[in-house]
Amino acid sequence: MTDCLFCKIAKGEIPSDIVYQDEKMIVFKDINPQAEVHLVGIPREHYINIVELTHENITLAQYFLSKMAEVGSKMSGGNGIDNGQFKLLFNTGEKIGQSVFHVHAHILAGKINEDARV
Ligand code: 5GP
Ligand code: ZN
Repeated sequence: MTDCLFCKIAKGEIPSDIVYQDEKMIVFKDINPQAEVHLVGIPREHYINIVELTHENITLAQYFLSKMAEVGSKMSGGNGIDNGQFKLLFNTGEKIGQSVFHVHAHILAGKINEDARV
């Protein structure tokens, strides 16, 4: 999608601090971190949220979810933060806090801001 922020990040048109990438997805540091470790993972293909992704491409959804679990586990441990302990969450819908309508999962680990929006 041409006018989507995360499509642009996936294509490298907008720079990001990438911690993991492959041909299907990319994981980068959140620009406004709400925790000691705050990462955002996206599939490169555009789907508006996790519901649309699972309905339209269950194979990609399964790949994405399992890879996010792996990255979450590694990143939390790798930063000297309580090994393997992290939150993995999807804001789905504007009223619940989704602000970018390209499916993404947040990884949060370590100390989380008390007033975190995520
Ligand atoms: P949402 O609020 O939709 O669940 O999450 C979107 C997340 O993307 C927010 O946590 C926000 O800080 C992050 N974000 C928005 N724009 C950018 C950007 O240009 N670069 C990076 N790295 N993160 C962004
Ligand atoms: Zn997009």
